[in-house]
Amino acid sequence: MRRFIKEPISEVHEAIRALVDAADAHLERDFDTAAAKFEEANCPITWEWLNNAWTGVSKNVVFWNPESDSECVPKSQRDPDRAIKSSVKKAVLERDGYRCRYCGLPVVHADIRKIAHGLYPSAVPWNSRKPAEQHAAFQVCWLQYDHVKPHSHGGMSSLENVVISCALCNFGKDRFTLKQLDIEDPRLREPVPSDFDGLERLRGSGPPKIRTSPLSEENTRPKTPLAHKPRKTSESFFFPRAYVSAGYVNVPPVAGKARWFKIGSPVEAEIVERNGVQGCIVRCPREMIDRRGIDANEYLDRPASKPGP
Ligand SMILES: [Zn+2]
Repeated sequence: MRRFIKEPISEVHEAIRALVDAADAHLERDFDTAAAKFEEANCPITWEWLNNAWTGVSKNVVFWNPESDSECVPKSQRDPDRAIKSSVKKAVLERDGYRCRYCGLPVVHADIRKIAHGLYPSAVPWNSRKPAEQHAAFQVCWLQYDHVKPHSHGGMSSLENVVISCALCNFGKDRFTLKQLDIEDPRLREPVPSDFDGLERLRGSGPPKIRTSPLSEENTRPKTPLAHKPRKTSESFFFPRAYVSAGYVNVPPVAGKARWFKIGSPVEAEIVERNGVQGCIVRCPREMIDRRGIDANEYLDRPASKPGP
């Protein structure tokens, strides 16, 4: 396989849908649902889908020097504006909309992610230095401006040479040419019009200013109803065949849909066996089970009697 662009799997589409639902719930001031949906969008399978392809880009390229390809040009011949001017970005976004021109994934501006992180710091984790601590759906949807012809090959930072791209297509494409990657020039296809607004409707709904210092953050973040929730009592739920991986409990499909829980306050997990069935106990407030569309009563842990179905 030479192509670096991977077809998004169903979990990626579901994570993006959860992101959209989270934004809608937030604007309806249903902060609990918004937090739950942001958590759902932070899906470990989506995270792996992206991050596996993100690293080691060069292994996706087989023909380094395909015939009649453009070549690296000396620095003196490159566009001195490697960084794309904001006026060009604006025009590119107006033309392409919030959709990757290579693969069609919806994309979201980093500003919107910062707003979501400011509002829901635990449901939307983001550590700029550690991809492992970045929210999966916001990574996948990260709006990028990509030089179709690489800057190093003389590609200009112009409206003609820059397209909107998702994080995977931009970082996965790296410094390689379309020929080296064996992908079609996205400019040969018209941008596909879309209703997706890049969750821009969250602008203005965030805190007045996103603080980065933990000290000032503590004192100045506007109080959302999330901050005042009384602690809820945890109960134990047993999920047959559930397993723990990369800090998440993964629950096999219930009614055709897989679920996961991020381990950490208030979620605790323990691998156990109930009546000969290997599984995982998740200890958390009942609301977290309900929010995932699972009947909590069916999965209440009953160590002495028959486990739930
Ligand atoms: Zn893409």
